[in-house]
Amino acid sequence: PEIAGPAPRHGTVGVRIGEGEGAVTIGGGAPIVVQSMTNTDTADVDATVAQVAALARAGSEIVRITVDRDEAAASVPKIRERLDRVGVHVPLVGDFHYIGHKLLSDHPACAEALAKYRINPGNVGFKEKKDLQFSTIVEMAARHGKAVRIGANWGSLDEALLTRLMDENARSERPRDARAVMREAMVQSALLSADRAVEIGLPKDRIVLSAKVSAVQDLIAVYREVARRSDYAIHLGLTEAGMGTKGVVAASAAMGVLLQEGIGDTIRYSLTPEPGGDRTVEVKAAQELLQTMGFRTFVPLVAACPGCGRTTSTVFQELARDIQNWIATSMPEWRKTYPGVETLNVAVMGCIVNGPGESKHADIGISLPGTGESPSAPVFIDGKKALTLRGATLAKDFEAIVIDYIER
Ligand code: SF4
Repeated sequence: PEIAGPAPRHGTVGVRIGEGEGAVTIGGGAPIVVQSMTNTDTADVDATVAQVAALARAGSEIVRITVDRDEAAASVPKIRERLDRVGVHVPLVGDFHYIGHKLLSDHPACAEALAKYRINPGNVGFKEKKDLQFSTIVEMAARHGKAVRIGANWGSLDEALLTRLMDENARSERPRDARAVMREAMVQSALLSADRAVEIGLPKDRIVLSAKVSAVQDLIAVYREVARRSDYAIHLGLTEAGMGTKGVVAASAAMGVLLQEGIGDTIRYSLTPEPGGDRTVEVKAAQELLQTMGFRTFVPLVAACPGCGRTTSTVFQELARDIQNWIATSMPEWRKTYPGVETLNVAVMGCIVNGPGESKHADIGISLPGTGESPSAPVFIDGKKALTLRGATLAKDFEAIVIDYIER
């Protein structure tokens, strides 16, 4: 039997986000979109412009900003204008909770400057007294021609819906465990809200759904079900993924499984940054997940072996690091000069055990001398040994070979 790759993409209705330069499509078979969110006070125009620009330049194709009060809403059109002036046309999404309906009504320029509104059915749900909040935001989106993300979240689950499902479950002949009921509430919260938005008058091609949970298995289960029951465009993300490697691993595990099953049209890594840390880390993580899974290419791939007792000198680690950094810093320029450069594969290997073999699979590979090997490093180009490098200029010589390859 054929050894299968990823499942075909789950079919969803495509949603265009933004207009003109910078516009992207989520779903409908479009490439999976990378997005991120700022952590600046949106009322602080300078700080928010700087962070949105940094995220966009790192590769974020959509950036979400918090719109939590009048001062923030008043800043949004200024932020949009400043970004456009410096050539950053990335679509902006407004993140609204509780009073989004009021902020959008009171600040029409904000409603216009944003490409998408994110609302949480748990705190602006469409039930009972909250219906006005939900329907106002949806009507505003319809009027301004904007998209909406309906983002259910485990931490702010629609209480009325959850209570009803818990009651029904308690009365059922075969009650499920509480966690299964909570999963069902997440799925229903997202889907019922989306259907209600359609009823109010927002076309399906302006609705994106998310149902974020902080536990990997719950997240996978909930998204599978959302995809099985609907064809709304899907925003994937593990909420509150956490700090450092824990956050990256948890989010990658959850999103990796779903993407492999064809589920997910846009992704975001909700990583907790170190105080004052670099926010663009979440963009790089998203790009790396999509690239390592073979869904998109953003930067040339540098394969490096982990090193072991055969690499006791630091030459190998330094070369792997230097090549990776050199490629990352060169990319903005290379992208303009060498279209398609992101498909390049480079291998930096520590010794002859796997070095020549792995190097032959790359476009360009170098196999450094391990402990006890002769102090020479064979270079492989397009699978064939091309030359051997030696001596202190090895890293620079290898860079020159890479550049020569790209130019050719
Ligand atoms: Fe160790 Fe050589 Fe394998 Fe690298 S390729 S991990 S140096 S045995």
